[in-house]
Amino acid sequence: MIQDLGSHCYHNEYRPVPPKGGDCILFFQERKVLVKITEDTFSFPDFQYTGEYYPRIYKSYTYLFSIDGRNYYLTQEESLEALPGYTMEDIIIFRNLGPQVNGFALITGYQLYNWYSTRKFCGKCGHSLIHDTRERMMYCPHCKNTEYPKISPAVIVAVRNGNRLLMSKYAGGTARRYALIAGFAEIGETLEETVKREVMEEVGLKVKNIRYYKSQPWSLSSSLLMGFYCDLDGSDHITLEEDELSEAEWFEREDIPYDEYDVSLTREMMIQFKKGLD
Ligand SMILES: [Zn+2]
Repeated sequence: MIQDLGSHCYHNEYRPVPPKGGDCILFFQERKVLVKITEDTFSFPDFQYTGEYYPRIYKSYTYLFSIDGRNYYLTQEESLEALPGYTMEDIIIFRNLGPQVNGFALITGYQLYNWYSTRKFCGKCGHSLIHDTRERMMYCPHCKNTEYPKISPAVIVAVRNGNRLLMSKYAGGTARRYALIAGFAEIGETLEETVKREVMEEVGLKVKNIRYYKSQPWSLSSSLLMGFYCDLDGSDHITLEEDELSEAEWFEREDIPYDEYDVSLTREMMIQFKKGLD
């Protein structure tokens, strides 16, 4: 999965130190990011290199995280898109280009970019928010309101029926691949209740034997995904919620489509079932 970085060392503690040689810049505009593409890999601009063209970035940067001792900084300096040797690319490049550690940095930085972009003013009194110096938090000096990065809990549900697995496709959009039932936790419910509610809402089925599998930070939707396996309880007749799904059907274990590699928890859970490891 995208967050499985092997021997790479990711540190998300907030340590807003000044940039040094070898540190990276993450520059986003909407769903685009500034990168250099070389064959099937991509890389981010070096802070020092960029500073030679745009010295103003030394006055406005936001520390994000570090990977392997290299710090990553967000900057909003708009003229950066003309940085020689680099181009603005759709953030979805992380699905097709490596290395995976850069893909992880890209989407994690993108989540923080989105969060900072939508936390400029206090939601309580409307004054401008300022950066706290000790932790990753935005602070209102007027009413003392505090804002921390938004992380929304959500479930991915693999519903088993003996040798069969429930697979579905999202309605609308460009989703062509099969997925599992998924949805955000609502206020006041446990994750187990989220699992039952989402399965009932989307396909009209009851489930039992709910068992936690693994989690995955999914930055594109600012969510923390939690994967669950469960078993069908009662009738296997599917009643499709057509606003959410375009199709849902039972797949025999051996008929589940197999991708050699994928970044998502959904895919890993499908493959685990296919291999009988669920
Ligand atoms: Zn305020």
